[in-house]
Amino acid sequence: MFVSIVVPLYNEEESIEPLHKALKSVMDAEGKDYELIFVDDGSTDSTFQKLEKLGAEDSRVRPLSFRRNFGQTAAFAAGFDHAKGDVIVTIDGDLQNDPKDIPKLLSLIGRNDIVSGWRRKRRDPFLTRRLPSMAANWIISRVTGVKLHDYGCTLKAYKAEVVKNINLYGEMHRFIPAVASLYGVKIAEVETIHHPRLYGTSKYGISRTIRVLLDLITVKFLQSFSTRPLQAFGPLGMLCGFGGFVINLYLVVLKILGQSIGGRPLLLFGTLLIIVGIQLIGMGLLGEMLVRVYHESQKKPIYVLKGVESLDVPKSPEIEKDP
Ligand code: UDP
Ligand code: MG
Repeated sequence: MFVSIVVPLYNEEESIEPLHKALKSVMDAEGKDYELIFVDDGSTDSTFQKLEKLGAEDSRVRPLSFRRNFGQTAAFAAGFDHAKGDVIVTIDGDLQNDPKDIPKLLSLIGRNDIVSGWRRKRRDPFLTRRLPSMAANWIISRVTGVKLHDYGCTLKAYKAEVVKNINLYGEMHRFIPAVASLYGVKIAEVETIHHPRLYGTSKYGISRTIRVLLDLITVKFLQSFSTRPLQAFGPLGMLCGFGGFVINLYLVVLKILGQSIGGRPLLLFGTLLIIVGIQLIGMGLLGEMLVRVYHESQKKPIYVLKGVESLDVPKSPEIEKDP
């Protein structure tokens, strides 16, 4: 087993050296081959200088550096793209997760595709972080059907084939288990240690919960309808269109019987329903076209095979130049 450990770092200069030491001692004791991918997310302090120094001293350290701050999700995406391991472990760079938990995750990854940490005794402020996070975890579990206590815990282990099949956008790293469940994965959850932040400051506040809930809408939609958008928009569209048709038919009958219908609010409502119905069905059809363009232009199948990272996409043939 070759293990890639991916660490996102944004202005964490004080934490890097102790974190490197802790990761090294845990992984050396574990006796597995490993690499440490430290992703500097556009830090403005000396994070990258420290990483370069570590990279020069320790051949297992692979520093990556963003040109600007792209966010934690992008940092994971870069780490996953560059990871060479069969197993990828993600861990926060601020020493709040404890590297000592990694062996526990690794021992479970054989039988599972994802092993997720659970910060049961989370050491963050209650009102701004733990309470919103409890609510968010409850909602995410209900909505996605993937039952985890702690989506936000960065300490997780993945089989590489699972994350290499997933494209990440927005703030979506916490939804990897939910997105991966689309492909059919086995997920385990283990309790992990959590420490209060020793150095630096947290990069997030309460506004994060709102962004998470918005991402949840996207994930739920993709989970349910990504390959059949017309079935998401169609039923409502048909209902509206049919309702509008019946209402307006009724008004037409009244008109034929000699009543005036021009001033009736019902006429406006019936017409609105018909237009909305047509638009919803049109949106579904546009979605169907997008799905086909997405899958067919990139040769992405609508299924995922066990044990296969991704299909080798044949490169487009080179255009012959005129002699
Ligand atoms: N992080 C990052 N880019 C960002 C924000 C955060 O790479 O834009 C990193 C940060 O350096 C840390 C991890 O993500 O290693 C978690 O961030 P933080 O500790 O601020 O979040 P919290 O633990 O408070 O949820
Ligand atoms: Mg933290």
